[in-house]
Amino acid sequence: MSCDEGDITVVELKRYAYCPRIVFITHVLHLDEVVSEAMEAGLEQHDEAVITPLIAKLKALRVLRSVELRSERLKISGKPDYLVITRNREYVPVEVKWASSDKGRGRWDHKLQLTAYALLIEENFKTSVKRGYIYYLKDKRVAELVIDEGLKNLTRKIIDNMHKMILEERDPGIITPPSKCVNCGYRAYCRPGLS
Ligand code: SF4
Repeated sequence: MSCDEGDITVVELKRYAYCPRIVFITHVLHLDEVVSEAMEAGLEQHDEAVITPLIAKLKALRVLRSVELRSERLKISGKPDYLVITRNREYVPVEVKWASSDKGRGRWDHKLQLTAYALLIEENFKTSVKRGYIYYLKDKRVAELVIDEGLKNLTRKIIDNMHKMILEERDPGIITPPSKCVNCGYRAYCRPGLS
């Protein structure tokens, strides 16, 4: 996969879902993230053994790790942590997060990320993706996500909005509650007064 100019990555889409201003800061203002200790911990490699029970449950035929995918149609690219291909030839993306689940469910930005991977998998493997999983390391929960047409269409629309915001260099403003800014690596540029 080559990442063409004008492409956005699925990780950037996840950030946009968390707070659109992050993408404005990185893509329009071209400022770099200030990496905190907590974030560095999140970047650490996880032990692949954590998803072994899930792979067994899915009756995997093959497991692809960090396969590089690109969509010409959506102008996005990305690498799901794992792509499980089951014995029934079902393609199932799996993400591992250094975070806690939302009471056993996936967090919104992670759900959007997983759905974007589903769209990439569909275009690259000419298949239909119906579900995916997110493993949360902090509370050791596995969240299943049903990836239906409604979620896929919403994800396409959000990708489109993100491209437009970057193209128009439009500042979305601060629309995120302060509680979400505490661990944000862009707080120094965006909300410097926030303690
Ligand atoms: S500090 Fe808050 S509003 Fe600013 S980019 Fe980060 S999350 Fe968004």
